[in-house]
Amino acid sequence: MPELYADIIVDIVHEKVDRPFRYRIPEKLKESLEVGMCVTVPFGKADKLIQGYVTAVTDRADYDEAKIKEIKEIVKGNVSVEQNMIRLAGWMRSHYGSTMIQALKTVLPARQSVKALEKKDIRLAVTQEEAKSILWECMRKKQNAKVRLLQELVQIKELPYNLVTGKLGVSPATLKSLESQGVIAVTAKESYRNPVHAVQDGQPRNSLSGGQRHVVDSIVEEYDSGHRGTYLLHGITGSGKTEVYMALIEAVLERGSQAVMLIPEIALTYQTVVRFYKRFGDRVSVMNSTLSPGEKYDQCERARKGEIDVIIGPRSALFTPFPNIGLIILDEEHENSYKSEASPKYHARETAEEIARMHGASVVLGSATPSLEAYYRAAQGQYRLFELNERLTGGELPSVYTADLREELKNGNRSIFSMRLQELMEKRFRDKEQIMLFLNRRGYAGFISCRACGHVMKCPHCDVSLSEHKNGRLVCHYCGYDEPAVRICPACGSKYISGFRAGTQQIEEKLKEMYPGVRTLRMDADTTRKKESYEEILSSFANGEADVLIGTQMIVKGHDFPNVTLVGILAADMSLSVNDFRAGERTFQLLTQAAGRAGRGSKPGEVVIQTYQPEHYSIIHAANQDYKAFYEEELLYRELLSYPPAAHMMAVQIMAGNEEEGSVLAEKLAVLARGHTGSTDDRSPEREGIVIGPAPASIGKINDIFRFVFYIKSKNYDTLIQVKDAVEGETARLMLRNTSVQFDFDPMNAF
Ligand code: ADP
Ligand code: ZN
Ligand code: ZN
Repeated sequence: MPELYADIIVDIVHEKVDRPFRYRIPEKLKESLEVGMCVTVPFGKADKLIQGYVTAVTDRADYDEAKIKEIKEIVKGNVSVEQNMIRLAGWMRSHYGSTMIQALKTVLPARQSVKALEKKDIRLAVTQEEAKSILWECMRKKQNAKVRLLQELVQIKELPYNLVTGKLGVSPATLKSLESQGVIAVTAKESYRNPVHAVQDGQPRNSLSGGQRHVVDSIVEEYDSGHRGTYLLHGITGSGKTEVYMALIEAVLERGSQAVMLIPEIALTYQTVVRFYKRFGDRVSVMNSTLSPGEKYDQCERARKGEIDVIIGPRSALFTPFPNIGLIILDEEHENSYKSEASPKYHARETAEEIARMHGASVVLGSATPSLEAYYRAAQGQYRLFELNERLTGGELPSVYTADLREELKNGNRSIFSMRLQELMEKRFRDKEQIMLFLNRRGYAGFISCRACGHVMKCPHCDVSLSEHKNGRLVCHYCGYDEPAVRICPACGSKYISGFRAGTQQIEEKLKEMYPGVRTLRMDADTTRKKESYEEILSSFANGEADVLIGTQMIVKGHDFPNVTLVGILAADMSLSVNDFRAGERTFQLLTQAAGRAGRGSKPGEVVIQTYQPEHYSIIHAANQDYKAFYEEELLYRELLSYPPAAHMMAVQIMAGNEEEGSVLAEKLAVLARGHTGSTDDRSPEREGIVIGPAPASIGKINDIFRFVFYIKSKNYDTLIQVKDAVEGETARLMLRNTSVQFDFDPMNAF
């Protein structure tokens, strides 16, 4: 039998070994070895055994036969990767910059195989009428978890156990107690193949509005004529986008393909999940960060075997190994969480488009405030644009007022609430309607500074300011370092050292001071640390257990609160001061989303935007709820400064244990980049790109690692890839210890 060889990517993250190595396939494996399998191979001088992935099989040795080593064995229980996943990893590697093994690990499901998990379901063990009266009883007793569960069960025959304990946030103990009272039954389930039996008979389905119908019909028509495209659905919240997604998914399933529905984790509430579950029953599977690797693996297997055909999840759900994807949807496509923070730093939007090309699928992007990128591409004709402008549940858009905080101060109002906001809040207290107070904390640090000398308390490891916690300690939010609070300035000895108090806690305290007896709920990173508390806080607010919900950007997504008629945005411009070219866009998005929370029910809503910069265009256009005006103005700025989407931009980050070495390397790589972009003269019209920097990163040191950064801008993405390849080659050649280089294409943050 002729010799066979395999190309193997070894599981070592280092530029130096980031290429396939050729191995001989031993006789005993010739029949069974396939591309994509995980194998053990001897590697290096000492022939240490390590794992790797087969990326190709060939009958050519191409190297000195005598030197070619042999594959040891196939790793047991490994998942075989389809060829197209390897192609995708290759594309990600070259498009975003990473090693091949990092890219492979991103697209591959968790490698370990686990025993099939027992599938359990929950259903009512009493009649619907009985269930309803038990539901009332639980509502009266404020047993919120039981209320959440029963509300769903009176509408839908059965729910998966995992969904109930996961997204619904009902504890196993609560389920046990309901089971022993004979209210519900927990049943093991052996098959997932019946697509419809979970759906309640006669469940009324919304008939699509004219606007929705137009979107669905247009996309399906193109699909049927063999055209696959990317579509941008620009529609205000509540305009029926989700309903459109579901109709499109249904159409694609009818045509025998599968669909991927991406939703940012924070917006993946049980309301949304249950909605999809009601429509698609057991054919849908939900992926989220609470799943164990075993459960994720299980999901991938079910997708591979064709047992499910819709997956809902955050960005990593893109890599679900469906045989034949027909549609990929990104809801809230402007969300930052669609960009990976680890190498390869891929964006789900472009990666979805690449997967769609491979499968012959269409892509639908949806948002109330599309990213500049998506809207720009739509304007250029790359994407087809659809708009939905009406709220389908009735409800009009809220009235928005801007309160100039400088004026307030002049008029002697020293509280954190403007006169307008106070007046409108008092009206809500009288009318028993609810209020949301939103604190824009992006870019804000609750720092401690000295009013005598200006000294700021900083983390000794990370070069960021420490924040004061209620327990009196100063904490670093990057590395967790903490130290006791100070009374005397360590720099000048003055006692005027204190915190800048405007956290959610302080707002809650001030509110209770002004309005004794007001019932409040607070939602921020501190109160939602526990896994279920996010859903818990939202549902107790929905149940009317508080008059005011105070929170950070977390509260602008998710649940509908029909009784909320007032939204106060306390410091709208906090995020404008961030040193980042997307600051204006983020501010506009946050304000628009926050404003959109008011008046979701039958009663009209009002919004107060408090700001020190009422003349800033992000604030003006958000107050007028005018996306297009914002887009036009923002694009001018991006064009002027060659920022995305007007050009592409790549950040090259250099990390080093030694400051001097890091700085020298950064300088050397920037010179190399300048050579490639021909930009030694940045005014030359012939130049291919502009290099900015290098400079110490804005956080110059994290965990005692020094960080430097430089940026390259170019209209041509390929120029950036060439520079990346050159930088990669140079760093591999230099083989420096304790240094590493990372790339970020079209970055979401400044470094
Ligand atoms: P979005 O995803 O744009 O926020 P949704 O699809 O969630 O909008 O719709 C908002 C609300 O309007 C939901 O309560 C939904 O049930 C309802 N709705 C959507 N489409 C229709 C329709 N065609 N007829 C009646 N109600 C609808
Ligand atoms: Zn001082
Ligand atoms: Zn730190």
